[in-house]
Amino acid sequence: MKSITLVSGRLTPKALSVGLIAFILLVCVMLVSAIAWQLKQSADERLANAKIAVHNIVRASEQQAQDTLRQAENILSDLAERVENDKLGDEQKVRLSKIMASNVEATDGIQGLFIFDKNGDWVVNSFSSATVAKNNSDRSYFIYHKNHPGTAIHVGQVILSRTTGDMIIPVSRRTQYPDGSFSGVVLATLPVAYFQSFFERLDVDKQGVILLALDNGDLLARRPMIDALMTTNIAKGELFSRYLINSNDGTARLTSVVDGVERVYAYSRIRGLPIVAAAGLSLDSVFATWRTYVYQASIMVVLIIVVLTSLGFLFYRQIQRLLVAEEELRLAHCDLEHIAKTDSLTGLPNRRCFDATLAQEWARACRTGNSVALILIDIDWFKQYNDYYGHVLGDECLKQIAALIGKPINRPADLAARYGGEEFVILLPETELAGAVKIAEEVRSAIEAAKIEHRGSSAGIVTISAGITSSHLRGVVVAIDLLEKADSLLYRAKKLGRNRVEHQLREVITHPQTDPFLPDTSPHPHG
Ligand code: GH3
Ligand code: MG
Ligand code: MG
Repeated sequence: MKSITLVSGRLTPKALSVGLIAFILLVCVMLVSAIAWQLKQSADERLANAKIAVHNIVRASEQQAQDTLRQAENILSDLAERVENDKLGDEQKVRLSKIMASNVEATDGIQGLFIFDKNGDWVVNSFSSATVAKNNSDRSYFIYHKNHPGTAIHVGQVILSRTTGDMIIPVSRRTQYPDGSFSGVVLATLPVAYFQSFFERLDVDKQGVILLALDNGDLLARRPMIDALMTTNIAKGELFSRYLINSNDGTARLTSVVDGVERVYAYSRIRGLPIVAAAGLSLDSVFATWRTYVYQASIMVVLIIVVLTSLGFLFYRQIQRLLVAEEELRLAHCDLEHIAKTDSLTGLPNRRCFDATLAQEWARACRTGNSVALILIDIDWFKQYNDYYGHVLGDECLKQIAALIGKPINRPADLAARYGGEEFVILLPETELAGAVKIAEEVRSAIEAAKIEHRGSSAGIVTISAGITSSHLRGVVVAIDLLEKADSLLYRAKKLGRNRVEHQLREVITHPQTDPFLPDTSPHPHG
């Protein structure tokens, strides 16, 4: 297929293809961007909601821990006041034991209350009014109070109760003599299980976490429970090492040092207590439905892109087919036009083409005042040629003559055509008669020089006769005058012996022609 040129106001096929591909790409990019933006919005929203939810969980845990510890602090203050001011006789101890037992009974989250003397010996506890011969001077809270004169409560790391064997959080306070010297310790034990069961009631996912820890990182309680709770310290985790050193509460997205799960956390230091509460929802659960949404949206986008691309491809192919069909039609039209204008035997333009060109050139000559010349050519004794050599060779001869007639025609505007039968015509725009005579003589001598055998002619070879006219001749008023005058001159050439060109140079006048003089327009005997 020939390359298709740019049609004014329309894209070339290449530009159309590039445009179509660019359009599809643009639509795809816009679609993907819009969906990606929407997914990002949705992810941010989920994260924000998760932060709010986890923050509320921390608030609840913090509140619960604070309430429990404040109650323990009040009870311990009361006990310390009694120990420091009342004498602890046997009677007193029994009474105190009962009070302690009823305190434990009345207070959620306190498992036991204990009074130790300055040596760490058990003096009174909430479990039994009888003195138990046990010593707690090795406990870290005891050592702490012995060495620290303050009367603030102390929350110790998780230990195993010597009374119940449960894991407990020791909350203790120093007692002292009036001179301020160390007289012993009062202790409340908070079972870890109490906090655990509270945590269980809060709404976190399976991989979520809720914890209480001392501000040195020692874990006090954790959901889910871990075996090494008593020995686990999370001070090295990002929560302590990065976030809690900068702010007392907030939210963070980080990976747990305990189980390696990535979560969105909320954290808070409990006011007035050396305790931190934190909770985290696993990112897996936060984004679980979002991931399904991403998956579905991705499938949808891929489907849309596939459909769009397929439609684009079909559309492109249809355009290509239309363009090909259009080009074939154009070529067919060109062929038809060529056929309609061409003589099939000689390949020269035919009479129809000549008539149209003559009308065109005549109009142009009238506008510009230039001369248009015409040579009418007739083969001599051609009837005899046919009779002698037959029509097939006659046709061949016509082809040869046509080729010779076309040869001296050089300018693009000149036209050599088959006028009919064995007659030819040469139209020479912007040519004076003298120039036309020269060309006619060239044609005649070229045919003579070709020496095409013609036994039916007295010359023995094929010759032609020609009549030459121009629009500047006297009597040439309309286009047909050129032909009629050329015909009469051709007749004269025949009469004068053939193989010659005839013209009327003396009749040349300047344009426009106003004199309708026609020297010889009567019908003549040849062709
Ligand atoms: P003159 O010198 O006076 O022109 O003699 P002539 O024989 O050429 O006279 P005329 O014009 O009467 O004869 C033309 C002949 O040309 C008639 C016809 O047999 C022949 N002819 C016309 N068209 C064709 C054609 O297409 N093929 C062939 N082979 N012969 C044709
Ligand atoms: Mg003839
Ligand atoms: Mg003739």
